[in-house]
Amino acid sequence: MTKKIFRSIFLASMVVLLCCLVIILGVLYDDFTDNQQKELKAQVYMMAEGVEYGGVDYVKGIENADCRITLIDSQGTVLFDNETSSEEMENHNDREEIRQARAEGYGESERYSVTLMERQIYSAVETESGYVIRASVTQYTMLAYIMIMMQPILLVIIAAVALSAFLASRLSKRVVKPLNDIDLDEPLKNEGYDELSPLMTRLENQRRQIRRQLDELHRRQNEFDAITGRMTEGLVLISGSGTILSINNAAMSIFNVDKDCVGKDILTAQRSVAVQNLIKEAKKNGHSEALLDLDGREYQLNASAIRTGDGTAGIAMLIFDVTERVKSEQLRREFTANVSHELKTPLHTISGCAELLNNGLVKPENVKEFTQQIYSEAQRLITLVDDIIRLSRLDEGTSEFTKETVSLKAICEDVVKNLEPSAKAVNVTVSVEGDDVVFSSVPQLISGTVYNLCDNAIKYNKDNGSVTVKMGRKGDDAFVTVSDTGIGIAEGHKERIFERFYRVDKSHSKKIGGTGLGLSIVKHSVQLLGGKIELESRENVGTTITVTIPVDKK
Ligand code: ADP
Repeated sequence: MTKKIFRSIFLASMVVLLCCLVIILGVLYDDFTDNQQKELKAQVYMMAEGVEYGGVDYVKGIENADCRITLIDSQGTVLFDNETSSEEMENHNDREEIRQARAEGYGESERYSVTLMERQIYSAVETESGYVIRASVTQYTMLAYIMIMMQPILLVIIAAVALSAFLASRLSKRVVKPLNDIDLDEPLKNEGYDELSPLMTRLENQRRQIRRQLDELHRRQNEFDAITGRMTEGLVLISGSGTILSINNAAMSIFNVDKDCVGKDILTAQRSVAVQNLIKEAKKNGHSEALLDLDGREYQLNASAIRTGDGTAGIAMLIFDVTERVKSEQLRREFTANVSHELKTPLHTISGCAELLNNGLVKPENVKEFTQQIYSEAQRLITLVDDIIRLSRLDEGTSEFTKETVSLKAICEDVVKNLEPSAKAVNVTVSVEGDDVVFSSVPQLISGTVYNLCDNAIKYNKDNGSVTVKMGRKGDDAFVTVSDTGIGIAEGHKERIFERFYRVDKSHSKKIGGTGLGLSIVKHSVQLLGGKIELESRENVGTTITVTIPVDKK
């Protein structure tokens, strides 16, 4: 801008300078020519007076004349010329100034030399006796004057150029300075040009509008980030060209990337073929789904294309962690297969015994044994079905169970009382100790848990063994510990005994009436109560299982 202003000022001053120069020269030259013409006219009138009285001799007598003098008679013949011999001169009647003088009494004209550097000014007057006296002077033309004065003119021009350049430079800087000093953050505080105040007011309004819009955008972005940041599902917004526009915390931790991936291609965050195909298909069909196995967890990806008139503007990808669902589906399938298997064996035994009895193939003395077999297998089936029903009720969740005030000691004593006969049968003593805890909980879940733990402690005990049930309060929790002096659990099995149908010694467990579901019921019940289980066991020494349940302070 400074350059432009400088150029404009400089050019304008140059044009003005040249115009002034030309006009001044023109005016001076015109004035000078005019004066010379007037002088010549006055001279020729004087000479005409002289010729009237003195004839040809008068002109011949003029000495040191500063102009050319020519006398012409009425025929146009040159009678006298003070610069050229009159005999050599042709008839002058056709000359413009002569013709004009003859017609009007006075005539004047001018003629240029071949080089245009000089011109001749003529003034002619007709006397009463018919003579025409003519005077003429040679004058330099404007061009000649310019050539003659070239040196001073050039000096003036150079000085003017330098001065103009200096002034233009200073002026342009001074004009631009207030513009450069404008503080765009505070347009209204600028004290530059008054003419800029509408622009500054507009700038200030626009600045405020932009700030408002930016604040609004930030607010919306923060809202969006807050909402998506708390989502448990992953959310990735991808542009039509495959660049990540936005990624929430859940998606970042699933793909193990940080915020830096925003603005980069989705492939930098996740290179799996499943994701590439998912995006391709979403672009093609508008929606696509895929399963992705990442770090041992299963994710379901749903991609939806966001279409505009021009095509796919972007893709919204939602990521769900379906590990638990997949696992529970797998567990359910395994459970169904195990249930069928567990039910099949006693049913086959019952069916086989019944068939033999029905066909009379059993000796009378063995009939009791066979009916006993049928009874015990039927009892096994009942226990198994009871446990399955209990487990499936637990699978339904807590909605079925209502909380009541429970006394932990009373529940434990009740369970021990119920198990006394079976404990006596295997020569195991059971004792209850500790302080009572009264709190609000689900009594069925607690008594089921204590029952299964005590039942196992008796079943997997040794002759003359003992079982101790201890309860009390530890901080905000109530606890029940069931310890036995039994066979214990080997290290490799400890992790798995809470699985459904898992038994350390299958035939032993079956023989003593185990279903393999007792500890699964315990685990499930404690989970529903919000508690936890701890297991300590040493082979051939004994097992201690502690269940802690949070006490609801309400
Ligand atoms: P079961 O009906 O076979 O007892 P559980 O789920 O109650 O099934 O127990 C799973 C397995 O854990 C049992 O088969 C047994 O091998 C083992 N177990 C459970 N409790 C004890 C214990 N107190 N002492 C030794 N082993 C135990």
